Amino acid sequence: MTFKRVTPELSVSAQITLNDLQHIKEQGFKSIVCNRPDGEGADQISFAAIEKQANNLGLNCHYLPVVSSKVTDDDIKNFENIVRDLPKPVLAYCRTGTRSITLWAMSAPKTYSYEEILNLSQKAGYDLSGVIRRLKNNGETHTSAPDFSYPIVIIGAGAGGVAVAASIKSRSPESDIVIIEPNEIHYYQPGWTLVGRGVFTPEQTVKTTASVIPNGVKWLKAAAAAFIPDENVVIIDGCRTVKYEHLVVCPGIKLDWHKIDGLSETLGENGVTSNYRYDLAPYTWELVQNLKHGKAVFSQPPMPIKCAGAPQKAMYLSSDYWFKNKVINT
Ligand SMILES: Cc1cc2nc3c(=O)[nH]c(=O)nc-3n(C[C@H](O)[C@H](O)[C@H](O)COP(=O)(O)OP(=O)(O)OC[C@H]3O[C@@H](n4cnc5c(N)ncnc54)[C@H](O)[C@@H]3O)c2cc1C
Repeated sequence: MTFKRVTPELSVSAQITLNDLQHIKEQGFKSIVCNRPDGEGADQISFAAIEKQANNLGLNCHYLPVVSSKVTDDDIKNFENIVRDLPKPVLAYCRTGTRSITLWAMSAPKTYSYEEILNLSQKAGYDLSGVIRRLKNNGETHTSAPDFSYPIVIIGAGAGGVAVAASIKSRSPESDIVIIEPNEIHYYQPGWTLVGRGVFTPEQTVKTTASVIPNGVKWLKAAAAAFIPDENVVIIDGCRTVKYEHLVVCPGIKLDWHKIDGLSETLGENGVTSNYRYDLAPYTWELVQNLKHGKAVFSQPPMPIKCAGAPQKAMYLSSDYWFKNKVINT
């Protein structure tokens, strides 16, 4: 994990994992701010799990979730206050670090010129020209001169986005298509059911996004934040704009773990698991193998869920293992 220094007091980074925490401490950071809402990504460790381990290491932790590219005035004020009050240096993270550095940049004009903000963010590896344009435009994102323009824009390089792109391209090879997708990793999610039964390894469900984008289709590595359908414009992170003639929207389903009280805090421990997250499916398999007696409870929420069969498949596959290993006999 690379920590990108913005100022002596603040660095930003992409999503961190539990394995990064020791390194974060050794790098001298005193505090961590999480700007990524739980459940945004399929391999995203919950803030509660990060906080628990960070606190054990003596690091301060703060949760200020911000929906991608929907930075509000309150978010900016809160971020400024939190960073001011926390022991420094502070490491702020989100999916890629863009949200965190944008939060900093939106309040930075009190201290730095626009040019200095651009330079500092460029040195950290982020292009905030769209953010500066928005600041100069009294907080409004300009749509008249788009940063990008494509005849066909697809949001999301999951199963849906990739399939639509491949289908259009095979019927119309000349079509000019871009997929907007922030993640460099594409997961074969149905494979997680089989990871939970020890048939697949987790690694077998991972591909690079670049390898699944159909030939001849472009990839814009960014997250869609807002749609302006009257102007055929999508706003992406960094307050940049993409003009389209045709738009296909396939961002998948966001998992709301927090809607079940206490779930985020205990997932991955205490015998509580889910095949709906890349890092948890191996824990399902561990629990299945270790259960020698007692009761296992499987839950299936009402729709909308990804793959209506997945919760039941976990139960049937687990029962099959217990049956074959004589843990159950009916
Ligand atoms: C455990 C499990 C088992 C399953 N088993 C089966 C099965 O057996 N059979 C079956 O048919 N289906 C199964 N599914 C369901 C299947 O995986 C989904 O239906 C399918 O992945 C949905 O495709 P999608 O493109 O809509 O969403 P996803 O594949 O989730 O992809 C969404 C993409 O959009 C991107 N994205 C999100 N927000 C943004 C944004 N703001 N801007 C740009 N990009 C964004 C994401 O990063 C992601 O790459 C299973 C799912 C799970 C979790």
